[in-house]
Amino acid sequence: MKVLKFGGTSVGSVESLRNVKDIVKGQTQPVIVVVSALGGVTNQLIEMTRLAQEGNDAYLPILEQVADRHRQVIAGVVPELLQTQCNAIVAQFIDNLRSFYGTLALNRDMAPEEQHLLANAIVCHGEVMSSAIVSCMIEGSVPHFSPNFIKTRTVEGVHQLEADLTRQLIQDEWREGVEGVHVVQGFIAGDVDAEVKTNLGRGGSDFTAALIAAALHAECLEIWTDVDGFYDKDPRKHEDARLLPQMTYQLAQELCDAGAKVIYPPTLRPVAELGIPVWVKNTFNPTAPGTVIK
Ligand code: ADP
Ligand code: ASP
Ligand code: MG
Repeated sequence: MKVLKFGGTSVGSVESLRNVKDIVKGQTQPVIVVVSALGGVTNQLIEMTRLAQEGNDAYLPILEQVADRHRQVIAGVVPELLQTQCNAIVAQFIDNLRSFYGTLALNRDMAPEEQHLLANAIVCHGEVMSSAIVSCMIEGSVPHFSPNFIKTRTVEGVHQLEADLTRQLIQDEWREGVEGVHVVQGFIAGDVDAEVKTNLGRGGSDFTAALIAAALHAECLEIWTDVDGFYDKDPRKHEDARLLPQMTYQLAQELCDAGAKVIYPPTLRPVAELGIPVWVKNTFNPTAPGTVIK
């Protein structure tokens, strides 16, 4: 069994989602697919929260853009028979968002803790919508809801992973083993004490995928992104960046800690402890060998 994580650009357009579908279909063993929100959507959800908190209804056209983009993607990648159902699911989430933003805009004297809870409920929607689309796109796939098994505790406003509980809950979620294709939201989590949504921090979908790979002793973790692998420096900023075909967990961790955005820093530890190899691969150039971290 493998865990494949697809980032925001990988699930961000019709063209890239078709690549995702091909990559998943090409697998010869069971896979758990972890998805981010469509690229840019998390930023938009946060920006709309800020506007609504100010009572500025400029969030409304942005929400329409977000809705349109999801509808267009559904039209491009979801099998025709499932499009109505998929559109209805996404429309329901857009309605939830409209109502959350309306609540924020109308209650500007709301206590900060309550605003925080609403902001957390809002920011989950990117992954909830993208995973609904990917589940519909890959017929026969099994959907999961990660707040049921990725658990955090909020300490002074910071969401800290409850590692032991999360490992146990992941193992329970897949106690019957993994067959076929399973689809999971990255980034989003549930609070241990309350029925509220939290998250693993910006860029946290990589971490979700690593936690699942470690708890289930996956054969490997594949991080599918928008560059050919891990470079010695950011290839978008440095023309002379060199691709590293292989690297140790230690070197990768050092580069991540120094700001290499390609992998979210907490990701490597759970897989490194078990010696699970991590591949960094390009959704837009899937035959490129990528980088293996081991
Ligand atoms: P995703 O949405 O797939 O999670 P990210 O934007 O989080 O993608 O990470 C991929 C980006 O990381 C690349 O587009 C690249 O610009 C940047 N990056 C920064 N440092 C590195 C590095 N050393 N090697 C590869 N990519 C890097
Ligand atoms: N969608 C979230 C973000 O933009 C998580 C992720 O992409 O990993 O931060
Ligand atoms: Mg990322």
